[in-house]
Amino acid sequence: MKNLFGLTLPELETELKSLPKFRVKQIAAHIYKHGMKTFDEMNDLPKSLRAEMSTRYEIKTAELLTQLDSADGLTTKFLLGLSDGAAVEIVLMRHDYGNSVCISSQVGCQMGCKFCASTLKGLQRNLTAAEMLGEILFADEYLRRFGKTLDSIVVMGTGEPLMNYDELMKMLRLLHEDYCLGMSYRRVTISTCGIVPAIKKLRDEKIPVTLSISLHAPDDKLRSALMPINSAFGIKSLLEAANDYAQTTGRRVTYEYILIGGVNDTEEHARRLAKILSGQLANVNLIPFNPVSERDFNPPTRNAVQKFFHFLNTHGIGATIRKEMGADVNAACGQLKANWQNQNH
Ligand code: SAH
Repeated sequence: MKNLFGLTLPELETELKSLPKFRVKQIAAHIYKHGMKTFDEMNDLPKSLRAEMSTRYEIKTAELLTQLDSADGLTTKFLLGLSDGAAVEIVLMRHDYGNSVCISSQVGCQMGCKFCASTLKGLQRNLTAAEMLGEILFADEYLRRFGKTLDSIVVMGTGEPLMNYDELMKMLRLLHEDYCLGMSYRRVTISTCGIVPAIKKLRDEKIPVTLSISLHAPDDKLRSALMPINSAFGIKSLLEAANDYAQTTGRRVTYEYILIGGVNDTEEHARRLAKILSGQLANVNLIPFNPVSERDFNPPTRNAVQKFFHFLNTHGIGATIRKEMGADVNAACGQLKANWQNQNH
């Protein structure tokens, strides 16, 4: 049986070419906007058509394997199973300014950042556009059951989205269609470790998504030690590409900076960071390192976080401290999956 989930309207029209266009549009809206998983639910279609569709097609998307709610009810983490048995995590966050979902772009990751749990087993495979959209629609459908809406999306879970560029673009364009969620590009954030040629390509797509750069160090020596990608694309070329992205799209770039105790969290690091970012259309988001058992790093002290934050803000760089959400649901990448796999395999 052929799976229709993930096809764009023109692709559905080609696949269902015996049907009038308005019917195909109805079906597209039922699949994406209304979250229907069977043709039987589509009761504005003739019964005979529903029966025929059911013999030839299916609407298959990610299925829930397990879920974990934080004690404060603000964060829910879901482990979703894909058709080949792979599993991905998504995190739903309920902020005062709206509901947001953090999705994964790959199964595993090849980037090798030294502080990150997602890359420990390398890259298994890219996710398809349909699978990424499935992650988003899962969160949307879950919220709608409680009368809530999904307001924004961050591609900041497992994987490097810009290493899965074409499928990412296909997903973003589909998400934006009015027969799908009609999601404004401005409500989407793409987080990258700094694939400079892909940032330049993204700039030219004319889709004003927000770009978030995982910077994590103010000089090439330290950044290359923490993030191998920096040996290919150093800080200077990364900042140039990011600045150019901001100028062209008018979208302020966010720099993520994990504070790791004793590694990159001193006043001297803050000074160098302020220096390299001065004059950029940028915000810095400080993230206290989330301890990963396989990684030999420590979180920063509360005092170090406050000092770093204060230094940036008094030296012309707008900074925020990432609100710690869902520490009790292991919001650090990859941990729910690891626990589930240990119990079930
Ligand atoms: N590959 C993309 C998106 C996935 S990582 C990127 O690098 O941006 C999402 C964010 O989580 C990145 O900023 C990453 O550096 C950060 N991160 C990874 N491990 C972390 C940890 N143990 N504690 C805090 N943040 C972490």
